[in-house]
Amino acid sequence: MLAIHGGAPVRGARDWPVWPQYDVRTETELLAALRSSRWSVSWYAPEGGKSRERLFGEAFARYNGAAYGVSVDHGSSALVIALEALGVGPGDEVIVPALTWVAPATAVLRVGALPVLVDVDPESGCLALDQVRAGWSARTRAVIAVHLACTVAPIAELTELARAAGVALIEDCSQSHGARWDGRAVGTFGDIGVFSLGAAKSLAAGEAGAAITDDPELYRRMLMLRADSRAYTESAPAPGEYELVELGEIMGGNYCMSELTAGILLDQLPRLDDQHARREIRARQLEDGLARISGLSSIPVPAQVDRRAIYEYGIRFEPGAFGAASVEQVAAALSAELGTRVYPPRVPLPSGTLLRPQTKPRFSRLWDAVRATGRDFSGAHHYRDHTLLMHHSVLLGERGDIDDILTALAKVRASAESLSDADSPALKGISA
Ligand SMILES: *Cc1c(COP(=O)(O)O)cnc(C)c1O
Repeated sequence: MLAIHGGAPVRGARDWPVWPQYDVRTETELLAALRSSRWSVSWYAPEGGKSRERLFGEAFARYNGAAYGVSVDHGSSALVIALEALGVGPGDEVIVPALTWVAPATAVLRVGALPVLVDVDPESGCLALDQVRAGWSARTRAVIAVHLACTVAPIAELTELARAAGVALIEDCSQSHGARWDGRAVGTFGDIGVFSLGAAKSLAAGEAGAAITDDPELYRRMLMLRADSRAYTESAPAPGEYELVELGEIMGGNYCMSELTAGILLDQLPRLDDQHARREIRARQLEDGLARISGLSSIPVPAQVDRRAIYEYGIRFEPGAFGAASVEQVAAALSAELGTRVYPPRVPLPSGTLLRPQTKPRFSRLWDAVRATGRDFSGAHHYRDHTLLMHHSVLLGERGDIDDILTALAKVRASAESLSDADSPALKGISA
């Protein structure tokens, strides 16, 4: 009997790996930031030297092979300053995938432009060329490509399309830190790469973000856009000196990263590659097992990707693989077997509750235009209804964890008919 119906779960009391991961070295970095008295880039250090957020920006750019990195308080802020640095504003349209976290769409609204939501590939959940073309108009100024969950959008083709059209390309790498396409890090193909460094992300610091670019002018603009029109001094500040100078070439807001947060990131960044390698070993084991369960497979990864990053590991199932059970029912049954969260992707933005421009005066005039797009989002809905996600931390443990996941999948698949049976007394009990 399935655990959700009161049977014994596949997994007993054994814990899953915790996330985020930290140890005494993290505590040392954080304590050093605390004791520096330099809690903000806007404050000064008695002993001088570069701020931690500047050092993290430099280190993160190096990690990705980009020329410049800018630390910010959120991935959402990175999207806003990227759009502003590129000069996107009122009257412009920006192509955004319909299946992603809401921030790429709200960032476009926040700069006064119109997000044009387009459908995604039903198997990868990412933007494909024909969908970008379907959203194209004379007002298109930029495309935001999201590398979703555990794969990479067809970035070489998207870059070529944007270049040929003279349109800017922003890569949202919030779910793909350190993924590589033909040996080159994602985030370096477009004009600007943006990253969330939120607590759940594979490079995590609670509330944080970053942007990378190779363009010195975009870098300079992003520095001012996130620090109230101020940019760094040429060299490291002397003891007691401020590090930000008031340039005022472009008006900014305050989206600066706290020094305490930057301290955590300086500890976490050097751990990322090892975590990628550990997750990849477990993902391969999971994929070997998935190949032996009919109707199940992993999310496709383009052949050019020589390193994938896994934020959420996605398992695809063919229609009918779990009988008539919905993705919610299957996910709930698997969660009960495993004692960790298995969940469907978010619903596409046009059907969800998060994108609500009509609720704010400054966006409401754009709402009719957003709504009027009236596009077909069947690819996004197919992906949403046939994908099971697990957080990347489940891949940071033992081989036995993978065996448990495979056992649970086979068990739930074998008893799928009992899930879709709405008259099942046990199910009634749960929903009551
Ligand atoms: C998490 C995420 C964001 C938002 O980042 P915050 O740091 O929460 O502002 C943006 N885009 C994508 C694709 C994300 O997954």
